[in-house]
Amino acid sequence: MRIQCPECKNDKKLEQKDAQVGKWFECDYCGVSFEITKVNPDGTCEIKIIEEEK
Ligand SMILES: [Zn+2]
Repeated sequence: MRIQCPECKNDKKLEQKDAQVGKWFECDYCGVSFEITKVNPDGTCEIKIIEEEK
């Protein structure tokens, strides 16, 4: 399955087992971190960007 980076819109491939609410991922292209907030029955995921504290 795939998720789309909310920042650069590139697709990221995802293992089915990793598609879980609360999982964090990092975009391979722009390096932004995001979290799965919801997994829909059709297999798509809703995600949000994680703001890193610096
Ligand atoms: Zn990205």
